[in-house]
Amino acid sequence: MYGIGILKGLWVTLVHFVETFTEDFRWIGRKRYYSEEGVAARRSKDAKGIFTVQYPEEKLPVPEEFRFIPFLVYEVDEEGNKHDRCTSCGICAKVCPPQCIWIVRTEDPVTKRPVPEPVDFFIDVDICMNCGYCAEYCPFDAIKMDHDYELASYDRHAEHIYNKEKLSKPVEYYASIRPANYTREEAVKAAEEAKKAEAAAAKAAAAAATAQASGGEQAAS
Ligand code: SF4
Ligand code: SF4
Repeated sequence: MYGIGILKGLWVTLVHFVETFTEDFRWIGRKRYYSEEGVAARRSKDAKGIFTVQYPEEKLPVPEEFRFIPFLVYEVDEEGNKHDRCTSCGICAKVCPPQCIWIVRTEDPVTKRPVPEPVDFFIDVDICMNCGYCAEYCPFDAIKMDHDYELASYDRHAEHIYNKEKLSKPVEYYASIRPANYTREEAVKAAEEAKKAEAAAAKAAAAAATAQASGGEQAAS
C-alpha cells in the first residue's frame, strides 16, 4: 500500500531524533564530544542518534590511505645530517597531471654534472589535485601523500607554493601516518638488500674458487 514506505522512513527519522537526546543522557559523566572515546563510539556501526562532528575542535581520524598534499621524505643519519630521499630524477614532475611540481636540480660546481639531490622542490598546492601519481611513480619512495588537510591561509602566493623546506618531513613522520605502507616498503627493501648480499657472496665465492683453481694449476706446472 502506498504511503507505508514513507511512514516507515519517518519512523526511522523520529527514532534517530529521539536517540540523539537519549544518547546524550547515556553519556552523562563521559565526554561524548571532544574525546577519542566519543568519536570512536559515534563512528562505530552501533552509533545511535544524529550528531555533528564539532569541527575544528573535534576531528575525525582519517584512514591510512587518505591523500592530501604530497611531502618529501628525508632521513637523518647517526651524525644528525639530513638526507633527502629525492634524487631529483624528475619522474614525479613528468607524471603530475596538472604539472604543479617543479624541481631545481643540483650540479657539481667543478664537473657541472648533475648531483642526485634537489636544490629546491616546489609544489603549487592550489593546483595539486591530490591524485597521488607522484607518490605512485617515485622510484625512491621519496614523495608521499600527507594527511594534513588544513591548508587555508590569507595569501595564496606566499603561502601556497610549497618549497623544499616546507615539503620535507622525516621518515618517522611517514611511518607514523602510514604504518602499513611503511612496513611493507621496508620489508621489500630488506628482501632486495638480502638478495644483493647473497649474489655478492656467491660472486665472491666463485672468484675465490677460480683463484684457488688457477693457483693449483700454476703449482702443478
Ligand atoms: S620525488 Fe621521487 S620521482 Fe620526484 S624527483 Fe624526487 S626521486 Fe624523482
Ligand atoms: S598528487 Fe597528483 S597533482 Fe598533486 S603533485 Fe602529485 S601528481 Fe601532481
